[in-house]
Amino acid sequence: MTAFTYRKRVLHAEHVPLPAIAEAVGTPTYVYSSAALRSHFRAVTESFGEHPHLVCYSVKANSTLAVLRLLAEEGSGFDIVSGGELARVKAAGGAPNKTVFAGVGKTAEEMAAALAAGVLFFNVESPEELELLDAVGRAQGRRAPFAIRVNPNVDARTHRYIATGLKTSKFGVPFEEAVGLYSRARKMKGLEAVGLDCHIGSQITLTSPFKAALTKVGGLYQELKAQGHGLRYLDVGGGLGITYTEEKPPSTAEYARTILAAVGATGATLVFEPGRSVVGNAGVLLTRVLFRKKTPARQFVVVDAGMNDLMRPALYDAHHGLQPLVQRRGKAVDVDVVGPVCESTDVLARQRPLVLPRQGELYAFMSAGAYGMSMASTYNSRPRPAEVMVDGSAWRVVRERERVEDLWRGESP
Ligand SMILES: *Cc1c(COP(=O)(O)O)cnc(C)c1O
Repeated sequence: MTAFTYRKRVLHAEHVPLPAIAEAVGTPTYVYSSAALRSHFRAVTESFGEHPHLVCYSVKANSTLAVLRLLAEEGSGFDIVSGGELARVKAAGGAPNKTVFAGVGKTAEEMAAALAAGVLFFNVESPEELELLDAVGRAQGRRAPFAIRVNPNVDARTHRYIATGLKTSKFGVPFEEAVGLYSRARKMKGLEAVGLDCHIGSQITLTSPFKAALTKVGGLYQELKAQGHGLRYLDVGGGLGITYTEEKPPSTAEYARTILAAVGATGATLVFEPGRSVVGNAGVLLTRVLFRKKTPARQFVVVDAGMNDLMRPALYDAHHGLQPLVQRRGKAVDVDVVGPVCESTDVLARQRPLVLPRQGELYAFMSAGAYGMSMASTYNSRPRPAEVMVDGSAWRVVRERERVEDLWRGESP
């Protein structure tokens, strides 16, 4: 759904005019729509209808407590990739027994904390990790529930930095090695095989990579079942793309049909790990124009949000729509919208046709809910942005702007 719309030329989040938030809280500020978060989450879970399934929202897309709490209240589980994310899930009231733990580099401490908390299962990405998990399980006198994350070697046809299912990728275990690992694990007293997992990448805008990967993974699941492994969960990962500009990703319903056609017959409880498709279009980043600067080659617009606040353009050459909070008529010119950070990659929008912004005007970077705040850093000693949650005509600050003193917490001069 689109929660960000113009009314009388003023951009609103649900019923709240965004300039009111910018004036009250300052900029840069992330603003999220509760209605959009709920509707995106419900679209996923409703698409799978009666088929046994669990949606585990991928925390790394946006780990803000208020976002996690809202999704926990909707009944979401969580997909975590660190002990820190587990702590966030718990702090937000999320259920550890609906949480799955992925990642290529879990430490023994992270495993122990997650096992003690009672996570649903671990997604294991290497033989050495499997052995460590076994040791952690034995130390606690229990069997750690696990799934092997297999790498199905399919091309997700997405940006190479966010493709994870190719055989050159660091993620997962080569498809051919999975059977051997499950039979080794059967002899280990600290382990219990409960599922099989894959995740092929992010911002996937076609159904064919999902179909190709899951057809393979569904076949492997059946094979493992036939060998007597008591698997119950088939974790199909996340990765469904969203519209940033012209992309036309499959709808959640189409995505669900593809998944069910590929693996519906396995009888497994399906686990989904959507991140971007839940939060991406539920958030925007508000920014204010500091200066305009014209050089012989370019018209620059310098704004108060930088690559430390929204890293995706610098990291992936990603495109975010840029909308004025108050529309004004005029001729569009191509501008480069840049942040204050001392890096040439701190360009948030390149050669973008805009009615030439004026000093002090407010803009919103659209589709900034996913991999925005969760990737924000304090580079250049810039405090991280504030965050606001809108619900109907109400709004509240859910994270205060970081204070300058916070920047050196724990340091000794
Ligand atoms: C990042 C990630 C996801 C979520 O990906 P989206 O593209 O945001 O849906 C799901 N599962 C795993 C293992 C991930 O690393």
